[in-house]
Amino acid sequence: MDLIIARPEGLYCPPGDFYIDPWRPVDRAVITHGHGDHARTGHQHYLATAAGAGILRKRLGEHINLQTLEYGESLQHHGVNISLHPAGHVLGSAQVRVEYQGEVWVASGDYKVEPDGTCTPFESVRCHTFITESTFGLPIYRWQAQQQIFADINQWWQSNAEQNRASVLFCYAFGKAQRVLSGLNQHIGPILVHGAVEPLNQIYRQAGIALPLTHYVSEIEDKAQISKSLVLAPPSAQGTPWMKRFGDYSDAFASGWMQLRGTRRRRGVDRGFILSDHADWPGLQTAIKATGAERVFVTHGQIHPMVRWLCEQGLDAQAFVTEYGEEAAEAETDFAAESALSPEPSANTSSANQPAAEIATTTATTATHPHLRQKARRT
Ligand SMILES: [Zn+2]
Ligand SMILES: [Zn+2]
Repeated sequence: MDLIIARPEGLYCPPGDFYIDPWRPVDRAVITHGHGDHARTGHQHYLATAAGAGILRKRLGEHINLQTLEYGESLQHHGVNISLHPAGHVLGSAQVRVEYQGEVWVASGDYKVEPDGTCTPFESVRCHTFITESTFGLPIYRWQAQQQIFADINQWWQSNAEQNRASVLFCYAFGKAQRVLSGLNQHIGPILVHGAVEPLNQIYRQAGIALPLTHYVSEIEDKAQISKSLVLAPPSAQGTPWMKRFGDYSDAFASGWMQLRGTRRRRGVDRGFILSDHADWPGLQTAIKATGAERVFVTHGQIHPMVRWLCEQGLDAQAFVTEYGEEAAEAETDFAAESALSPEPSANTSSANQPAAEIATTTATTATHPHLRQKARRT
């Protein structure tokens, strides 16, 4: 029996009568994580991890009807046992395990196998059928250890600071920014943040994740310090008047897409740091094998190379048609959200009273296949 099928609204569990990360409004939604292509507005009931509750409420509204589970805790719904297990992708991210009449399926959402300090590390869950992403499912994607990447970022910052030049690092506001923060050497200089990033930092801190001290640029009294700073900003801040205050700065972009030749140049930045919150090619292979699953469905990203590789391994593999995007789609959802936020809160806004603008989510239909656009842009 198929415990999860693809429906026009989203991935659906027929015996349990609920959806996983649905892209159209439904009655019951289990949400793997707070990125915009997975967590959307308009559902009647939400089920997610306790660790992800702060993000979901921030993005979807304080008043959503949200039930939470701890990692590994389970509940019964129409005879289906549902539990959530760490996906290692961003704060609160989960794989959804469903069990019915002895059959076990796991829908993994987005995941990363390398542990980092900002979310609970990925845990392999045994199952008969595994539903996987394949954002970076090509052999060219092999990540360096993150300690090496953080060392490169700190070295770039140090050398800019020695030349009195601010270092502006563009990265996605939810997940990537906090991961970068966790790897920064705060002795080099002050760390400045854009107003789209800081509210998410606060949610991480409230969840008990230690992050270095961050400031808004307006809080820096000795302006000479700005030239020693590292600035974390969302990609949408690039080219806006907010950037002018940093003078002759050096800029960089942190993303798995920086692996692709030409991406840094197209982004128009000085440096590219290859840092992804998704599994690389070996990571995907290891994770899939470790589930022991004989059947695999691939939801998004490099679907066909992954299906082909899995079939070559003797597995029953096929694609699910979904509206999940990739890092770029998640970022574009961020773009929409950021337009509602000023770069900094007004002077009388205390840090405890963050911008009131609700972070809106949009349907990411235009951003469904960023890899296709990526290819289109290369030609
Ligand atoms: Zn994601
Ligand atoms: Zn995603």
